[in-house]
Amino acid sequence: MHNTICKNLEQLNERIAAVCKKAGRDPAEIHLVAISKLKPNSSILEALDCGQFHFGENRARELQQKMEQIDKEEIRWHFVGPMQTNKIKYMVERVNWIQSIYKKKYHKEIEKRASRMDKVINTLVQVNISGEDQKQGCRPEDVSGILEHAQSLKHVRVRGLMGMATYAAEPDKVRREFKLLKDTFEKNKQYNSGSVQLEHLSMGMTNDFEVAIEEGSTMIRVGTAIFGEREYE
Ligand SMILES: *Cc1c(COP(=O)(O)O)cnc(C)c1O
Repeated sequence: MHNTICKNLEQLNERIAAVCKKAGRDPAEIHLVAISKLKPNSSILEALDCGQFHFGENRARELQQKMEQIDKEEIRWHFVGPMQTNKIKYMVERVNWIQSIYKKKYHKEIEKRASRMDKVINTLVQVNISGEDQKQGCRPEDVSGILEHAQSLKHVRVRGLMGMATYAAEPDKVRREFKLLKDTFEKNKQYNSGSVQLEHLSMGMTNDFEVAIEEGSTMIRVGTAIFGEREYE
């Protein structure tokens, strides 16, 4: 098992290097967040042993439990799932990144909770690039308002945008959706001021990270290719 996760990480890094070479990009620009949802703590510890430090979860409760149980200072925890205002209080105690902000009210709550703990939480604004109703995220045209509001916050740092393409769609469609996120990112750089400093584009998962890197991703969120298939969802 140990060997499997290490080997998977190695193979993944080789694939990242290969697509970077093809796209004329530096692999050092691509940050890997290992999505460990529904996987046991032991798998996270194995990946940590192989040099993986960033981990992501998509359920607030599961993240909270793992952050408590796995007491490793070197881990950087990301939340990538559906936001719930009442979970933010507990989340900010340990989380480093919240990737799924799509309303001002979540930033307001993070500001309030994080200020009491004297922390600064990195966030990404999640954009619904696939247009599917069941996907979270704001519309591309709503990003500017969220950024303007965040500029003056002291305990939130907006570091970029996040998006999910239609699952297992044909590559052209996926590519168009990633282009939309990149385009939204470029258009909103004019809001870089104060706590808003757009530098990251979080896009690409096991199925589509190669297309995402070709389209400018700087952060990929990969679960299955590292930890294997999930039992249920
Ligand atoms: C599950 C999940 C991923 C990773 O998915 P894989 O297909 O297993 O790589 C990435 N991002 C989010 C938001 C997820 O919920």
